[in-house]
Amino acid sequence: TKPLDQPGEFVFRSKLPDIHIPDHLPLHAYCFEHISEFADRPCVIDGATGRTYTYAEVELTSRRVAAGLDGLGVGQGDVIMLLLQNSPEFVFTFLGASYRGAVSTTANPFYTPAEIAKQASASRAKVVVTQAAYAEKARQFAEENGVKIVCIDTAPEGCLHFSELIQADENAAPAVDVKPDDILALPYSSGTTGLPKGVMLTHRGQVTSVAQQVDGDNPNLYFHKEDVILCVLPLFHIYSLNSVMFCALRVGAAILIMQKFEIMVLMELVQRYRVTIMPIVPPIVLEIAKSPEVDRYDLSSIRTVMSGAAPMGKELEDKVRAKLPNAKLGQGYGMTEAGPVLAMCLAFAKEPFEIKSGACGTVVRNAQMKIVDPETGASLLRNQPGEICIRGHQIMKGYLNDPEATARTIDKEGWLHTGDIGYIDDDDELFIVDRLKELIKYKGFQVAPAELEAMLIAHPNISDAAVVPMKDEAAGEVPVAFVVKLNGSIITEDEIKQYISKQVVFYKKIKRVFFTDAIPKAPSGKILRKDLRAKLASGVLA
Ligand code: AMP
Repeated sequence: TKPLDQPGEFVFRSKLPDIHIPDHLPLHAYCFEHISEFADRPCVIDGATGRTYTYAEVELTSRRVAAGLDGLGVGQGDVIMLLLQNSPEFVFTFLGASYRGAVSTTANPFYTPAEIAKQASASRAKVVVTQAAYAEKARQFAEENGVKIVCIDTAPEGCLHFSELIQADENAAPAVDVKPDDILALPYSSGTTGLPKGVMLTHRGQVTSVAQQVDGDNPNLYFHKEDVILCVLPLFHIYSLNSVMFCALRVGAAILIMQKFEIMVLMELVQRYRVTIMPIVPPIVLEIAKSPEVDRYDLSSIRTVMSGAAPMGKELEDKVRAKLPNAKLGQGYGMTEAGPVLAMCLAFAKEPFEIKSGACGTVVRNAQMKIVDPETGASLLRNQPGEICIRGHQIMKGYLNDPEATARTIDKEGWLHTGDIGYIDDDDELFIVDRLKELIKYKGFQVAPAELEAMLIAHPNISDAAVVPMKDEAAGEVPVAFVVKLNGSIITEDEIKQYISKQVVFYKKIKRVFFTDAIPKAPSGKILRKDLRAKLASGVLA
């Protein structure tokens, strides 16, 4: 596992052998490649209503969506925005767009109108598929840009209803020749620096990523068609879209949809549907570990609990392990730009390996990982922490319309630089120890400091600002701001918080404001975030 690819370069690979990946197939064809083996089995279960859709129904409805999108003028390569909570229609619409050769840009329905407009405009979305409760927030943008709004529940005036979209004859959509390097999904991520950018994920990339997880004799992630997979993480985030929806579809498992997380409802559903696989994030793990009511439910069906999107400490892992004795618990490590999965816990394999608490997996198959010194770029050996880099067909094609940001993230040799600091131990297990990049993660959701800093600096009473993460038990991290007031101006912490809070989704709200005389900067003008983080950690500001 330690071949020397180039002199002085130490490349790490999976302990499992590489596999054949049918990456010539578009994502929908790959997911449904074996559908004849499970056409009548449950594919999507709506947890709220109990309504179940079989694989045959999901496939048919998706093809109708493709025809319906065509009818709305969505052509190959065009973008639609999915502004949806988890719902069966999310699955149909995403797959429908794939059949149409169109691109889905996924967005958080709790975004403010400004956040929605920013993403819809940057991605040039032609249609927004949403719920009545969120349609109003997209309306102004839609009207100004001739964008159509489709609602999956009830359609307010001027919007189409989803039923109209699926009235189309599934054979009416023109045949589309989807190429492996065509873009399938366009989630937004700030990556290692700056503002959120459109992450171009291709059909080949997604097929490769899913295959790396669930294909082959001894997959990293052993899912099978009798499994019931909990889908509580938002499908607009690539973790759920890829590791829950696509992986489940590929193997023929049932996807149990929850619109939002509520611990008691979740437990009830696990018990009722005998959920076997629980892909979750550390804040949900924490709730399970903490909540005494959890013990009242029969959770014996759960065999796999996978945590990802944010760090999970060994203590928390051990605590929840005690609550779910039948389940294997472990972590996956993902990043939107990486496609997203870089590493996966090998306790989830069909023939599992022993793993250590706190590790976030071993690099996936058909991929290469290396750890580099962030200062010198030198490739490091085992047990030496450095920046985690990954290479393989699963990674993004690049950032939409942003070749500079792409070149900063993917180097000339094809290595994607994650901005995460970690090391690989003697058993090939990866441990993440720090984050080099600016990104703040609130319960696994991305907060880009640059976005909040731009808003702060735009305020007439603020001359300079920097936003950094502060540790928080429930959320993992929360954004806090250091603010320099404009000479002589009067502004309070509360005023600043309110000013931001009107413009952003709940998890980007600034939790504390610390006034300061100057923001520490390098001669290049770059904010010295490490200094500010150290100041927070020292406790002098409390
Ligand atoms: P996103 O693109 O929103 O998925 O965020 C990716 C980032 O989340 C990574 O680059 C890491 O900083 C963090 N992350 C994801 N999974 C883990 C994990 N298992 N442990 C620690 N950090 C993680």
